[in-house]
Amino acid sequence: MAVYVLGHKNPDTDSITAAIAFAELQKKLGVDAVPARQGDLNPESELVLKKFEVEVPELVTDVTDKQYMLVDHSDIKQAPDNWDKGELLAIVDHHKVGDITTPNPIFFCAMPVGCTGTVLYKLYVDLYKKEIDPKVAGLMLSAILSDTVLFKSATCTPDDKAVAEELAKIAGVDDMMAWGMEMAKAKSAVEGVAPKDLIFRDYKDFNMGGKTVGIGQLELVSLDLVANMKDDLYEAMKEVKEEGNRHSVFLMLTDIMQEGTELMVVTDDPSIVEKAFGKPLEGRSVWLPGVMSRKKQMVPPLEKAFGA
Ligand code: MG
Ligand code: MG
Ligand code: MG
Repeated sequence: MAVYVLGHKNPDTDSITAAIAFAELQKKLGVDAVPARQGDLNPESELVLKKFEVEVPELVTDVTDKQYMLVDHSDIKQAPDNWDKGELLAIVDHHKVGDITTPNPIFFCAMPVGCTGTVLYKLYVDLYKKEIDPKVAGLMLSAILSDTVLFKSATCTPDDKAVAEELAKIAGVDDMMAWGMEMAKAKSAVEGVAPKDLIFRDYKDFNMGGKTVGIGQLELVSLDLVANMKDDLYEAMKEVKEEGNRHSVFLMLTDIMQEGTELMVVTDDPSIVEKAFGKPLEGRSVWLPGVMSRKKQMVPPLEKAFGA
C-alpha cells in the first residue's frame, strides 16, 4: 500500500521538497512512499523543481483510508482533510508541536532549526546512514535557502548553514547565494496575480485562543513590487476574513533586503496588534523592523496576545 508524504496546505518550497526528500529516504528504507502536495506550486517551487529536474508531486488533499506521513507541519489546520480518517505514520518538522494526535506510536522528529530540509539531512546521514541523491540534495538546499531567507531569518541556526554547505557540494551548486537570490526573485513575482491568490500563496490558519487567525506572507526583494497593490490586497484580506469566519487576517509584506515586515491587518480587535508587537496599527498596517519569520516573530507574540 502506498504511503503518501505530504507537506502543509498552501505549500511552500520546504513543504514540496521535504515531501520528495522524505519519500526518497523512505523508499531507501523499503517503504512504498509517494510524495504528494496539498496545493499548487508557488513560482519559487516551480523554479526549484525545474532546475533539479524533479517531477511535480501528485495532488492529494484528503487522506481518508490512506497511510501517510507529514512534513513541515503538525497542525490540524494545515493538515490534509480527514487527517484522522487515515493512518498517520510519521511526522518530520521544524515548527512548534501542533495539535495532531494519534492512537498509536509514530515516528516523530522535530528539531528547532530553520528548515525541514535540515532535519531530513540529519535523518539521512546520522540516523539512517543513507546517501542523498544529488537532485534531492539540490531540493533540500533550496528549501533551506528559502525557509531561512538566505540565512537571514531569526529561525536560521548554525546547523542550517552547515547542512546547506554539505548539500551544495552533493548537488554540485557552486554559488548557493546566487541560486538563493534567483529563487528570491522568483518568489517575488506578484505582477498579474490575483490579490487573493497572493494572500494564499504562503498562508496559514491558526487556532489562537479558540479564534481562527490567518497569517499570509509575501517575501519580496522590494516592497515597491506591491506598492500599487495594497488597496486590492486589503480588500481581498477583508473577503478572506469574512469567508473563513476568521477573527483576524494578517498579511506580512516582508522586505528581505531591508529585513523587516510591513504587516497589513484586518481584525475584529485592532488593539491585538499593540498587545502583540508593542506598536499600534497606523491605518491598515504597521512596520515591524527585523521581523521576517512568521513562526518565530509573529505566531508566538500573537498567541500570547490572544491568550492562547
Ligand atoms: Mg513551510
Ligand atoms: Mg519549513
Ligand atoms: Mg516560509
